[in-house]
Amino acid sequence: MAQTTQDVIGQYERYVMNTYVRSHLVIVKGKGSRVWDLDGHVYLDLFPGWGVSGIGHCHPWVMKALRGQSTKLLHVPNNYYHVLQWRLARRLVDVSFDGTVFFANSGAEMVESAIKLARRWGHLTASGGLRRHEIIVMERSFHGRTTGALSATGQPKYQEGFEPLLPGFVCVPFNDLDALRRAITPRTVAILLEPVQGEGGVRVASEAFVRGIRQLADAHKLVVIYDEIQTGMGRTGRWFAYQHTGIEPDVMLLAKTLGGGFPIGAMIAKRHLSQALTPGTHASTFGGSPVACACALAVFEAIEKQGLLERAGHFGALIMKRFTALKARCPIIQDVRGLGLMIGIELSVDGRPIVEACRGQRLLINCTQERILRLLPAMTITRAELDRALAILEAVLMAHVPQVAAA
Ligand SMILES: *Cc1c(COP(=O)(O)O)cnc(C)c1O
Repeated sequence: MAQTTQDVIGQYERYVMNTYVRSHLVIVKGKGSRVWDLDGHVYLDLFPGWGVSGIGHCHPWVMKALRGQSTKLLHVPNNYYHVLQWRLARRLVDVSFDGTVFFANSGAEMVESAIKLARRWGHLTASGGLRRHEIIVMERSFHGRTTGALSATGQPKYQEGFEPLLPGFVCVPFNDLDALRRAITPRTVAILLEPVQGEGGVRVASEAFVRGIRQLADAHKLVVIYDEIQTGMGRTGRWFAYQHTGIEPDVMLLAKTLGGGFPIGAMIAKRHLSQALTPGTHASTFGGSPVACACALAVFEAIEKQGLLERAGHFGALIMKRFTALKARCPIIQDVRGLGLMIGIELSVDGRPIVEACRGQRLLINCTQERILRLLPAMTITRAELDRALAILEAVLMAHVPQVAAA
């Protein structure tokens, strides 16, 4: 029986828990920067999977790795070894910093892992009966929806009604080093931040801020944790956003693009810290499965062999230039900002009608914090696709400029 979009929406309403704001679009197929709906319409996707499909939907090398591995072995419990997990861990360390890697399946789980690592480190380094456990987090941050990650998220709108939250988080304004310095107490053990806030409105941490954090952390023996779940794996034109300043974290969290669409998350921690998690202290049943690792290894291949870091930097600069130029002609654009292929366009008006209008023109984008359009194009997008997508967005933005009333 043929299903229509309305049928599918009706069945969701009946059987699927209603926790998401969804657009009326049923997606049946994806390739690169294009997706197809039930009726065969093709959409350009400038927000593929909230950043998950960072190298495009169904990248051929990921699909090949997935097909190959899935005929051999899907899952190995972590009380045994398999041959792909160490390879992926080594790849991650080779492009970041020396340490060891813990694998799980999603972003929020990596945040939970970092909270446990930091607390355990505070416990092991306790002196004079003082067990450090407080983690400093940022306003407008986003770290996920599990209870610990939610408690670390600096946005009360996500926390409302779920109290009491996990204690031990102290929230300070982003890019405000003085406030952060004042928040450090003898109980502080870590500082957690996104080098570019995504959901919070595409806000880039200033170099002075991250440099100051590093100095304060070194002086007070604090663990610097970067949530690179959205920024990592090439999105910003480098493997990791921290590499734009060269100021290293001690712990880094990844998910989203890492698996090329297959769920996997990773936490990389410097060696002195990773010792805090000994056998039996932390685990994930599905973590680092052969299939997930095979997909992530294919993502590495694609980023390296297809020159995707350079592409992300190049196309990112091109998008910034176009919207900065448009800003001069389009009074509803207040600010254009970002890093590589992570771009925010702040408007003076509600962005949601603009997202809907773009969808009507078969272009998918996102709006966050009500007025900030967010673009996370795939690093594999073609120049022709990008030009077409930007032309649609520009036309929609111009059409939303309020007309001056005729006399
Ligand atoms: C998406 C995201 C998360 C949460 O990831 P999930 O896989 O949805 O749990 C955490 N931090 C950042 C920065 C994210 O963008």
